Order: sequence, then structure tokens, then C-alpha cells
Amino acid sequence: MSPGGHFAPARVRAVHDVASDVRMIELEPSSGARAYPTGSHIDIAVEVEGLPDVRSYSLVGERPLDGAYRIAVKDVADSRGGSRFVRALEAESDVEVSDPKSHFELHYGRPEYLLVAGGIGITPLVGMSHALARHGRPFRLLWAARSRAQMPFLDELSELLGDRLELYVSEEGNRLELGQQIDQLHPDGELYLCGPLRMRDAAQRAWRERERAREQLRFETFASGGRFPPEEFVVRVRDRDDQEIVVPRNRTMLDALGDHGVELMWDCRRGECGLCQVAVLEAEGELDHRDVFLSEEQQAQGASLLTCVSRAVRGAVTIDSGFRPAWTR
Ligand SMILES: Cc1cc2nc3c(=O)[nH]c(=O)nc-3n(C[C@H](O)[C@H](O)[C@H](O)COP(=O)(O)OP(=O)(O)OC[C@H]3O[C@@H](n4cnc5c(N)ncnc54)[C@H](O)[C@@H]3O)c2cc1C
Repeated sequence: MSPGGHFAPARVRAVHDVASDVRMIELEPSSGARAYPTGSHIDIAVEVEGLPDVRSYSLVGERPLDGAYRIAVKDVADSRGGSRFVRALEAESDVEVSDPKSHFELHYGRPEYLLVAGGIGITPLVGMSHALARHGRPFRLLWAARSRAQMPFLDELSELLGDRLELYVSEEGNRLELGQQIDQLHPDGELYLCGPLRMRDAAQRAWRERERAREQLRFETFASGGRFPPEEFVVRVRDRDDQEIVVPRNRTMLDALGDHGVELMWDCRRGECGLCQVAVLEAEGELDHRDVFLSEEQQAQGASLLTCVSRAVRGAVTIDSGFRPAWTR
């Protein structure tokens, strides 16, 4: 199976568990692993419910290890199957991977850095920690997770960082207060955050309340995990005579619309590019915006949503898909 485009063959060199629910997979591209900026990820061709699909994984470490990319994949309980596919790979399996892509790059030259990880969001921050430590830059890494057993690379990071590593383990009753941490950061310092949407929201709120420069808060979320668990809902398509389409729990709105002939433009399918955006005319319940494309204000307004990741909760949503029959254009 090949998703085509920018993918190339790779071989799994080794697989091993690095935490109770995290598996590391070493991937050796046949054309050789390329150097990458820390914070980069690769896309992997996966199969989900028998269909080709793509999932992204951050590269662990500052550079490839002996010609292999390293990724660490969490076992996702309510998964559609992408992580299950990757976690089931064995040594010598063949896969298709992209070149590294850099959307979360470390910017040097700041007086201080705060790295913040939520759970598996540690993966891009491992390489950043090594890079900052090597360059002798002042920084701290704050890492919040449910339990220590679920935290990969803990020994490596403790040894590298000493008391620059602070753990907030909820099972042990420790909570990360982002506002207090931001107060301690140099006024021109930068914050790099990788974690769930709620954590990103809290950081953005605290950052804004302190009137810090917007561009000095950089984040990556692993997308699609929303504020509400996914549930089935109905989309009414106003420009298609109010055609009603059911979006099952395990399907995106973009795919469900496509299944019923409402084709939208799309590209990233991760809530980043905005191509699959539609106008929301009415929403009975709430909208669960899972994208990083719309601003917080636009999401709160609810006049549009990105169909590749976002969903409706508790009731139907009426949209205008942008479709116009040729004779009305
Ligand atoms: C840049 C980037 C880097 C990443 N790096 C890592 C990494 O280092 N390690 C790692 O483990 N993961 C990483 N991810 C996440 C990874 O790409 C996958 O999303 C993850 O493995 C889950 O895939 P899945 O198919 O198993 O789960 P999915 O089915 O995609 O489910 C993931 C989440 O989406 C929700 N969901 C389920 N159904 C739907 C639906 N129909 N519509 C919308 N949401 C739904 C689920 O509740 C779940 O919380 C990264 C993602 C990005 C974008």
C-alpha cells in the first residue's frame, strides 16, 4: 500500500517499549535518514479500517541514530486504528514514510526558554532539550503526565537536565500551574508547548493575560483529540436542499460528507491548513473545534469549522459547504 506523493520506502530496524503505553520504533529509510531541525515530524502511511491513511509522529532526539529515525507511539484508547497499525509493526517490516517536516522549530537567540510537555507531547521536546543543553542556553522542561510509568525517556532526561526537569504527575497529586511558570520566565523568553488542546488553551490564556508577545508562545498539538469525546452527530447541508448526513463516531465530518457526494477541498487533514473549512449556519449543541487554524476568537464565534478534525456535540449542525450548481454561479 502506498499513499503516493512524497512517501518513500523504509524498513523497521527495531521496536521496543519505552513506557507502559509507549512504543519506540526505529525506521531506516532506504534512501538514508536526513538531518532535521528539532521539533520535526514524519508522516507514515498507515491503514485504518482497510483504507490507506496517514499519521504523523515527532522525531525523537536531535538527529537520526545510526541512520534511523526514532518515533515513540502512544497506545490511544479510542483510536480509529492509526496508532494500532504503527505499534503493530515488527523489526524488518516495510513501511512508507515522508521526509522530516518542520512546523515546530526551535528559535535560537532568546535569553530563556520554557519547554512544556503534556504526556506523549514530550517527543519533540527531547531533541529540543538536548539542543538547548548542548548550546548552554537557560531553560527548564516541565512535563505533566498521569503516572511515571507512562513517561518515556525519564532516565535520559533526568540525567541530562537534573533539576531543570520538573515533573507534574497527577497520580502523585502534582498539578502544573502554567501562569506561575510563565511569571518566572524572562520577559523575552519563549515557551514551547506540546500537549493536548486543553493544555494549549490554558497556556494561551495565561500568556495573553500577562500581555506577552504572541509569537513567543509556540506550540504543537497532536491534533484530533478534542475537548469532548467523539460522538455521532448530524450535518444538514443547506446548499444541498438541507441534505442530512450522519457522521459516525469513528469518522471525520470531511469523510462522511465525501461518502455522500459532498466533496470539499482538503490537504493536511490535521486541522492546520484550513482548506476544508465550511460556514456554520446553525448549531444545536456545541462545536468541538479541534484545529489549530482558526483563532480562539473565531472558534468562540462558531461561524465556521474545519471538517477534517472538528465535530459537533449534542445535536445537529447546519452548514453551507460552498457548493453552487453551475447554473447559479
Ligand atoms: C505533528 C504531529 C506529531 C505527532 N507526534 C506523535 C508522537 O510523537 N507520538 C504519538 O503517539 N502521536 C503523535 N501524533 C499523533 C498521531 O499522529 C496520531 O494522531 C495518533 O497516533 C492517534 O492516531 P489513531 O489513528 O490511533 O487515533 P485517531 O483515531 O486519530 O484518534 C485520535 C484522537 O482523535 C479522536 N477521534 C476519534 N475519532 C475521531 C473522529 N472521527 N474525528 C476526530 N477525532 C476523532 C479520539 O478521541 C482520539 O483522542 C502526532 C500528531 C501530529 C499532528
